[in-house]
Amino acid sequence: MADEWQEGPSPDTQPGRPSQDDLDKRIEEIRRKVIETTTEAQQRIKRVVDKAGTYWQQSNTPLQPRQPSNVEEERIRRLANNWSMGNWQLAKELGTYMDLVSWGEDEVWEINLQTRWETRSMETVSEPYTGRPVGQTKPLLPVWDYELSAVTGLKAPESRVRLAGQDEVFACSACNSTGRLLCATCTGRGWVICPDCKGRTRLRCSTCKGRGYIADWQDTKKKTFFQKRADTLTSSVGEKVSDIFEGIRQQGVPIGNPVDTDPANKGRTIPCPDCVNGEVECTCGTGKRVCDTCQGAKTELCPHCGGTGKTVRSREIARRFDLTLQTLIFGSGAIPEQRLANATGDLVYSAEMNETFHPDAAPEGVPMDVWRAAVQLAQTSSQADRSNDPREQTRASLQVLELTRVPYTKVDYRYSDKDYVFYIYDVEGKEKFYADRYPARWDRVEKLFRSITNDLMAPAPDNAQPAASGDQMRGYRVPVEKPPYSITEEEV
Ligand SMILES: [Zn+2]
Ligand SMILES: [Zn+2]
Ligand SMILES: [Zn+2]
Ligand SMILES: [Zn+2]
Repeated sequence: MADEWQEGPSPDTQPGRPSQDDLDKRIEEIRRKVIETTTEAQQRIKRVVDKAGTYWQQSNTPLQPRQPSNVEEERIRRLANNWSMGNWQLAKELGTYMDLVSWGEDEVWEINLQTRWETRSMETVSEPYTGRPVGQTKPLLPVWDYELSAVTGLKAPESRVRLAGQDEVFACSACNSTGRLLCATCTGRGWVICPDCKGRTRLRCSTCKGRGYIADWQDTKKKTFFQKRADTLTSSVGEKVSDIFEGIRQQGVPIGNPVDTDPANKGRTIPCPDCVNGEVECTCGTGKRVCDTCQGAKTELCPHCGGTGKTVRSREIARRFDLTLQTLIFGSGAIPEQRLANATGDLVYSAEMNETFHPDAAPEGVPMDVWRAAVQLAQTSSQADRSNDPREQTRASLQVLELTRVPYTKVDYRYSDKDYVFYIYDVEGKEKFYADRYPARWDRVEKLFRSITNDLMAPAPDNAQPAASGDQMRGYRVPVEKPPYSITEEEV
């Protein structure tokens, strides 16, 4: 209710006005300042302010509070006051001060139809033949001719149903009935290039990092324990970095090694005892290794027929379920449908639709025209085939119908010599309001106020106050000689 003003209906005034609270605050401030002083001029201003305040009140609260003369009128006035409370643009206490012209009760119906759609498609499934005998083949029927298990609830998961009597055995075309295919790993060669030496048959020696020489043991031995440990630490880190660069260089990238761990720089060297020129023989010997996948057999079992040379083709019906919601507002017009969407209403009827529904037999509490519209909506909806894919077929497989009654009262009233209409809708305790236009909380008096407040709040140029003004100087100096605002009906 509080956000009513944001959504569309505009108060009967121009936009850009200050809020009621803002105005109230300004009036209060003026009063306070004026009362603080006693000069004749300020007394006169006070009279203007008071008079304007009264005038303003009167123009917003015309004449006298009205007394309801019956229960229904009391209800309308009470609800109109609620409306005022929740909408700061609307005249205050509208229910108390409006003149009721007439009112009438009516209702709209919200027809909600939930449809669960079932989409069926015939699919072919091919599997390896297992040797299980295949029975007599039956003719294939259209998808909807198969009586499949019932699905309950509006939401159902996808499922597949294997059709009996549709299995047929075929020769496997993938392997030409041989049951075997060329090995995919070795492309039928039976061997692969050795992953260790990349076919080179030789590997870099790990003892000398491929240099062919190592540091002379005699030199190393003379170092102290701590010196050796420091060397080992430095070289173990350096060698890791060195190895990385070495690896890059071996890929053919001409890159210098920034960490030089070459033992030739540190002293005498001797030839590596583990290799010839930094290289050792790879264990493959030939640069090739036997294919792990086929163990050298060059072929593998055909996955399509499982090696039998035959496949079984069967048929499945894939079932998919989707849910849609259709809403029809019946008997609306005055209140926009998007407003009615937030109504709770009375759920008068809720049931699954089936063939026994007859458009001429409305359930209890449901008007005949509402019922006919609902049945027609359900029938139209269920006939539509929603699928765009020619291989699929979609049908409504379950429909749930809900009929909700939303009562409303149309109220014609007068306020400040103008005619207005507003609507109270929804069930008791949840009433909401709608109006195209309504009386504004303030009107033309706001302009008068603005001019008065501007004059009073702005410092008077003739009486610029010294900085050291005392308490008695806080009173406002008003340029009474030439009041810039004019109130023709006032005697200032
Ligand atoms: Zn190798
Ligand atoms: Zn070596
Ligand atoms: Zn292989
Ligand atoms: Zn095969």
